[in-house]
Amino acid sequence: MPLEAGLLEILACPACHAPLREEPSGETPELVCTGEGCALAYPVRDGIPVLLVDEARRPA
Ligand SMILES: [Zn+2]
Repeated sequence: MPLEAGLLEILACPACHAPLREEPSGETPELVCTGEGCALAYPVRDGIPVLLVDEARRPA
């Protein structure tokens, strides 16, 4: 399910406030922070981005 157009433009990483980019990785799409040194990946569940640092996947 694609995210609503324009939604990405208003979303920002809650940790560092950098913009997010959509990354369709397998079955679960993710919103990946574009901030340098942050790069947290937030899950999208049922088309709804979960912008919680506790829920984010940290980059390896
Ligand atoms: Zn970030």
